[in-house]
Amino acid sequence: MSHGCKYLILHCMDYRLQSVIEEWKKTKGVSGDIDVMSIAGSCKDLANYAIGTCESNFVMAMITLAYEKHGVRNIILTQHEDCGAYGGKTAFAGDEAEKAKVVGDMIKAKKALLDKFPDLRVEMFRIKLAGEGWEFEAVND
Ligand SMILES: [Zn+2]
Repeated sequence: MSHGCKYLILHCMDYRLQSVIEEWKKTKGVSGDIDVMSIAGSCKDLANYAIGTCESNFVMAMITLAYEKHGVRNIILTQHEDCGAYGGKTAFAGDEAEKAKVVGDMIKAKKALLDKFPDLRVEMFRIKLAGEGWEFEAVND
C-alpha cells in the first residue's frame, strides 16, 4: 500500500441515507480518506457475531483488512432508525425499544472490535428521523 487511510465507516445500505451520510462525512472532515462499508443493518451482523448468534464474520474480516492493509485506526459505527434489516419501525413496541436495540447492537459491535484491536478509536452515531430528513446523534457507551 502506498498510503493508508485513517477512517472506516460502517453504515446501512439504505438508499435514503446515502446523500445524508456523504454530507455528514464532509462536515466531519473524513470524506474521501475513508474506507466505506455499506451493508444492510450496519452493525447488526457484527453484534450478532459477537454474541454467537451469527456465524458470519465478514464484517470483522473486512475491518481486519482495513486495519492491517490500510492502517485504519478510527472506526465510525452508525445505526439508523426504521432499518429494514430490523424489520423497520413497526418491528418495535415503540421508539425507545427501537433505540435500545440498535444502540445495544452498536455497543456490542464496538466491544467486539476493541476486544480484537484495543488500539482502535471507535465512535458511534445513531441516525435519527428528523422531519423529512435525518440527523446524526453521538452515542456513548
Ligand atoms: Zn438500514
